[in-house]
Amino acid sequence: MQPWQIGVFASVDAGLGVHLDVARELGIPTVQVHSPHKPTRTQAAADSFLANCNAAGITVTCVFGGFDGESYADIPTTANTVGLVPEATRAARVQEMKEISDFAKLLGCGAVGLHVGFVPADRTGANYNGLIETTRGLLDHVAANGQNLHLETGQESADHLLEFIHDVGRSNLFINFDPANMILYGTGNPIEALKKVGHLVRSVHCKDAKWAAPAERGKSWGCEVALGEGDVGMETYLRTLKELGYCGPLTIEREIAHDRERQKRDIGTAASLLERLRSQIL
Ligand code: MG
Repeated sequence: MQPWQIGVFASVDAGLGVHLDVARELGIPTVQVHSPHKPTRTQAAADSFLANCNAAGITVTCVFGGFDGESYADIPTTANTVGLVPEATRAARVQEMKEISDFAKLLGCGAVGLHVGFVPADRTGANYNGLIETTRGLLDHVAANGQNLHLETGQESADHLLEFIHDVGRSNLFINFDPANMILYGTGNPIEALKKVGHLVRSVHCKDAKWAAPAERGKSWGCEVALGEGDVGMETYLRTLKELGYCGPLTIEREIAHDRERQKRDIGTAASLLERLRSQIL
């Protein structure tokens, strides 16, 4: 694959991505896909989706997991509901994530992605160590499918994400770096974070955001905005990715599924911005 292929985060019947026809109409050659709901994670659905991708010249680069009951309403609700961290839903969700890995295999995709949740700060606690064991079991299943797992960034600092990955101790655990999430969650300067975790970054989101007011950071959301209009600094972001030797796709994420027209327009503008910067930097 050519370096820095433009991509977009897409959805079938779940998640905040665009539908495949938007990628096709905009001429975007790669997608990450939010996993569909269980009834549509079938061989027939995979074959149909792949046929549509092939007809449009689109490659699926990563399949993201997501679960019923997750809510991003505010930061505390996100911490209580998202990923494999909440203990009440952990066993059922890790089983579902294994099924999502199986579905990704049907799509011929070698990477699955996940918001693991807010990794507990205490590395000696029962919740943290249970999460480590659960993640190891998931990674072994993912490895048997010939896949890597990419953790989405944002819910913890770069340093704590590195600690977690070290403690899990599996060779198929990597990072999907999302610079805007570092701003939205208030977990650190995205460029400094990228430099710390860059050796583990195997996929990225191109998303932008503005910081919350200083007293509110980490307590309430920053604001997601169109690419190039926020505080990430897209040129610095891409130049840093180049310094790190990152060659994978540049996957645009615009999480305004409630406004499909604007979502498509913003993604088209973002693709143009990334193509211009790519021609200047690569
Ligand atoms: Mg993201």
